[in-house]
Amino acid sequence: MSFDTLGLGPELLSAVASQGYTTPTPIQTRAIPVILEGHDILAGAQTGTGKTAAFVLPIVQMLSEEPPARKKRQPRALVLVPTRELAAQVGKAMQDYGRRLSLRATVIYGGININAQIIRLNRGVDIVVATPGRLLDHANRKNLDLSRVKTLVLDEADRMLDMGFIDDILEVAAFLPEERQTLLFSATYPDSIKRLAGELLNYPRRIETARPNIAAEGVTQMAYRVGRLRKRELLSDLIKKENWQQVMVFTRTRYGADKLTSQLIADDISAAAIHSSKSQSVRTRTLTDFRRGLVRILVATDVAARGLDISGLLRVVNYDLPDIPENYVHRIGRTGRAGEKGVAISLVSDKEQGWLIEIERLLDHKIPFKRLAGFQPRNDSDPDIIAAKRKLKDKDAKKQKKAPEKAPVKSSEKTRQTRKGEKPPNVEKARTSGKKQKTGKPEKAGRVQKTGKSEKPGRPEKAGRVQKTGKAPKAGRPQKARKSPKKR
Ligand code: AMP
Repeated sequence: MSFDTLGLGPELLSAVASQGYTTPTPIQTRAIPVILEGHDILAGAQTGTGKTAAFVLPIVQMLSEEPPARKKRQPRALVLVPTRELAAQVGKAMQDYGRRLSLRATVIYGGININAQIIRLNRGVDIVVATPGRLLDHANRKNLDLSRVKTLVLDEADRMLDMGFIDDILEVAAFLPEERQTLLFSATYPDSIKRLAGELLNYPRRIETARPNIAAEGVTQMAYRVGRLRKRELLSDLIKKENWQQVMVFTRTRYGADKLTSQLIADDISAAAIHSSKSQSVRTRTLTDFRRGLVRILVATDVAARGLDISGLLRVVNYDLPDIPENYVHRIGRTGRAGEKGVAISLVSDKEQGWLIEIERLLDHKIPFKRLAGFQPRNDSDPDIIAAKRKLKDKDAKKQKKAPEKAPVKSSEKTRQTRKGEKPPNVEKARTSGKKQKTGKPEKAGRVQKTGKSEKPGRPEKAGRVQKTGKAPKAGRPQKARKSPKKR
């Protein structure tokens, strides 16, 4: 299969060739012709599959075929993405391809001054790539007119829902014309995505390039069992002994990311952290340094790392396992992109075993364990060790059966001990085991919710809330599909 057969014009074919792409990826082969025909799509595309070009190319082509605006240009394509980094990446692709066809694209996201964005919008744009919250701000202030949008893209839609953007997405959709094309890309298909698709898509074509919810094929996965307090030692050891270069390491919390970064630096390993408490300029600089090889280890949280495309990244380490199994798929999708090979290593403490089981259930396969002498946790739940311990226990039990029984303590004596204030031993034990861990809280999505309600990332039910609560639909919210598929 070559790009020539997909219906793209000569300018875009030469743009694709100048990127060095010779063959379209499966999602590009399947999606580009369907989008050019004007259909809505519901695409199960994992990160790293070439999905950006799969929607950027046909959108640019379709917009270039329309007559140019006589008055000020207003957006005709809108791409919603979960993070600033992804907005910058998709925006760059739109600008690079669009420029060849005299189209103007701009990127809008929060966390930076709004005025420069207003100036750019006032100049007139054809394509807007944005995070939902900031875009909604602009729409409410009438800084842009979304009534001419012909194509809406929801990129990494599952991430957007995890980050609590459902209400913003629906509010933005209320500004759009009902008669439009909608393209939804999602790596996973929780029920919340199905409900969102039901709300916004019109007879979508399903495009599935790989089984949903499974990790990229070229990624070799493995895990080490290790005590929580020895993870950092194990990581430093692996980096040094195996001479790892360019590794992305995931922690669950911002605090954890900063702490690990300082520890690695103390171990003479160059490292930097990105998370949502870092300013946008620091995040951009850190990423550039990592891409250039000036930083060896990039320590990141899930929220900050979503959608990042770092070409040639060989290793991803799950320093902490994610408590949301889908995040595991996203994390390890940073490596093995566009058919390359990659390795994903998870450091699993005893307390994280439950999460590992959830992840394996999602993947539908086991992640093989590797052993490293000296790093097995004390309470190792390795099946061999469990079996050995059970044998020992059985032996002890048999021995005890043979030994003469101790004289039972009289119940009156028990009562006397308790009255004197001597706690029965199990009370103290229960208190100790109930002690709280001093781990940081998992990172929340960077935005403050308008409602004041705390929105934990990773609650796919959020999307469902809209339907379940029976809230009155917002003015102009797109109605469920009633029409037949449209053709362009
Ligand atoms: P994406 O899934 O859109 O983030 O793309 C992942 C990576 O694949 C990016 O680095 C793209 O530049 C690259 N890519 C996209 N399409 C192709 C293609 N047809 N051939 C080779 N690489 C590609």
